[in-house]
Amino acid sequence: MNRFRPDDWLASASLKLLMPGMSAAEARLEARVLLAAAFGVNHAWLLAHGQELHPCDERWQQAQDWLVRRVQGEPVAYLLGWREFYGLRLAVSPAVLIPRPDTEVLVEAALERLDLHQDAAVLDLGTGSGAIALAIAAHRPRAQVLGVDASAAALALARHNASQLGLDQVVWQCGSWWQAAGGRRFDLVVSNPPYIAEDDPHLAQGDLRFEPIRALTAGVDGLQDLAEIIAGAPAHLSPAGWLLVEHGYRQAASVRELMTGAGLVEIHSRPDLAGNERVTCGRCPTGKSAD
Ligand code: GLN
Repeated sequence: MNRFRPDDWLASASLKLLMPGMSAAEARLEARVLLAAAFGVNHAWLLAHGQELHPCDERWQQAQDWLVRRVQGEPVAYLLGWREFYGLRLAVSPAVLIPRPDTEVLVEAALERLDLHQDAAVLDLGTGSGAIALAIAAHRPRAQVLGVDASAAALALARHNASQLGLDQVVWQCGSWWQAAGGRRFDLVVSNPPYIAEDDPHLAQGDLRFEPIRALTAGVDGLQDLAEIIAGAPAHLSPAGWLLVEHGYRQAASVRELMTGAGLVEIHSRPDLAGNERVTCGRCPTGKSAD
């Protein structure tokens, strides 16, 4: 076995990466992602030209360092410094939540409500890396998108992502939930807020261990921030404007109840990729938005 041959490195790395609950194929895929990223090539290149990699190439060391850190649990997205979301390559760091495929359901729901040919004021509360705001801006060039986050470090990353993607029309503002929006009203508000209960055992598992806790937890039941966002919605939505929020897989009924209590209408939930109700939508009644 020669550890400077891709096949050998991948075989040995896959064994080290194999964690409980993971299939051998998943471990092998992770090993391939690390090796390809260390060499700045794609999987097809590795397969075709892997034998040309030189044993003295210092990028073997990069792959090896990432492997050790990954075995200790660090998320792949933080090691590589990026993650793809809705077809966009986004820089990520431990200052922000790693964008999840499930959140693409929230983007889909937002895009369905935004006409390609019409102006619309859109707000993303708790934007983090800017994932949702940027996905909307990329697909709805006429939307005026504001991304808000309480973390200055997160906003710096969101701004960086916007400029890398050439989506400089998105505006960013630091502040807590509605406070940063001031007295403005929006046609569509999206949010993937923290929604995990403070004592949830999942926080001690997987990627969650490395993600910013303020982006994950919200009080004893995980509903604290969702409640604040929903309560403030009628004062910040245009008549017939939509509020779309992501939430935990067992929170849909509570979120619908909060929206009903806030006077929103047309309330309904949508499933994520695993079939769990993950996104709930509610609308400001026409002509009845609060002053
Ligand atoms: N969806 C994430 C998870 O359950 C949590 C993200 C969040 O709190 N917004 O792993």
